[in-house]
Amino acid sequence: MTHSYQQFIDGRFADSSSTFEKRSPLTNQVTALVPEADRGQVDETVRAARAALSGPWGDMTMDDRCALMHKVADEITRRFDDFVEAEMNDTGQPRVVMEHAFIPRGAANFRIFADVVKNVPTESFELPTPDGAGALNYAVRVPKGVVGVICPWNAPFLLMTWKVGPALACGNAVIVKPSEETPSTALLLGEVMRDVGVPDGVYNVLTGKGADSTGQFITEHPGVDAITFTGETGTGEAIMRSAANGIRDISFELGGKNAGIVFADCDLDKTIEGIGRSCFLNSGQVCLGTERVYVERPIFDEFVARLKDKAESFRIGLPTESGINMGPLISKVHQQKVLSYYRLAEEEGATVVTGGGVPPMADEYADGCWIEPTIWTGLPEDARVMREEIFGPCVHLTPFDSEDEVVALANDTEYGLSTTIWTENLSRAHRVARRVDVGITWVNSWFLRDLRTPFGGSKQSGIGREGGVHSLEFYTEMRNVCIKL
Ligand code: NAD
Repeated sequence: MTHSYQQFIDGRFADSSSTFEKRSPLTNQVTALVPEADRGQVDETVRAARAALSGPWGDMTMDDRCALMHKVADEITRRFDDFVEAEMNDTGQPRVVMEHAFIPRGAANFRIFADVVKNVPTESFELPTPDGAGALNYAVRVPKGVVGVICPWNAPFLLMTWKVGPALACGNAVIVKPSEETPSTALLLGEVMRDVGVPDGVYNVLTGKGADSTGQFITEHPGVDAITFTGETGTGEAIMRSAANGIRDISFELGGKNAGIVFADCDLDKTIEGIGRSCFLNSGQVCLGTERVYVERPIFDEFVARLKDKAESFRIGLPTESGINMGPLISKVHQQKVLSYYRLAEEEGATVVTGGGVPPMADEYADGCWIEPTIWTGLPEDARVMREEIFGPCVHLTPFDSEDEVVALANDTEYGLSTTIWTENLSRAHRVARRVDVGITWVNSWFLRDLRTPFGGSKQSGIGREGGVHSLEFYTEMRNVCIKL
């Protein structure tokens, strides 16, 4: 039986005149009909969001607003199982990942940013004047206005709340466009917002597709004051063109081709565990994941053998089965894309250490979007598999001989999102971390996130930083008041 979704506009659920099919990644069967918001519905939503800014939401004190954000987090926690279920059905990823990471961290995004905005000071300057009386300057922060929030499918709730949390804490109204593959948790959050008393029009969700559809209609709309986007670099370029009309602000978290750097003096047990997670967690569909690993030559062969064991230890299956730690890819389209890179790797001359295909699955799951964790060696640095983001559970391993060489190899990419360095030599870790051109570097860890720290990419991996006080740079506008005394 198929489920029918609705839009969430101005505090109410509503249908659209057209819909599209959504399929389960586990079976590739149609499970739902998702509405596609047209320009008229986008227009209606923008009007509702603008009205909210000058209604009770705009008048609310910061204390009351932040208290409401805590209520949102509490209600997500109360409805924890609903969120886990919804996200699991959309992504097919193991229940344990939803329960331990994606849903609780989503709730935390409302708590943390509510606390951050209350504790950030603004600045003040005294200015001497010729008459001796002087002037006093002080800054105030005001919300940006209506923020378009365009989201991907790989960690839908976590990545969406990472933007909506600070946006609302700062007093904006949002129009969220979840990925066409994963609309469920954004819509469920609509119920939460309504039930805890967030005023109508403050949080809106419009489902639909991207180009020539809802995503484009939102980003092109002149009533949207700023756009925050997470997704592919190519989509970022299209949204940047839309945002140029009306000189509207953007914050972008984009693709990556992240390098892992493993020195011979690393703790190999910890390294295999950490690199294994960074390559294969969420079936490799993590923007911060590692698709290239450079290993110092003396331990290269041992590293290859041990990462092979690690990859082969992943148990692929249904999200609800116990002991399963790898689900399918998000869709058939994405599975075909990843498989095309698996074929390309062999054409480009790779040695397949493990994987390279689709695991056999039984019965109704046979046509699901399953994929094997895959390791390659032997590719030259200019191979496409070494340069293009694949976004699957796959990694290429290359030996290196010196610090300078590995820094050059890690930096030889148009992307600059994250890197992970493994060494027990702390001086070396500091030295190399400064030289790798990325927004986020982990040493002897991966995906260890402190929400107060700046998050974002260098080069083609993004524009701007979000996280902690840095989110305020995007979600508020600083204004100066100058008073002649
Ligand atoms: P995508 O760019 O295909 O889609 C993301 C969103 O943009 C979707 O909601 C889509 O409907 C919308 N969209 C597509 N074209 C549009 C257009 N022309 N105008 C407006 N909206 C449009 O990305 P995806 O496949 O959903 O996600 C995977 C990508 O996201 C990978 O490249 C990954 O690296 C990246 N990502 C980056 C981060 C980060 O923090 N840097 C985090 C997660 C994912």
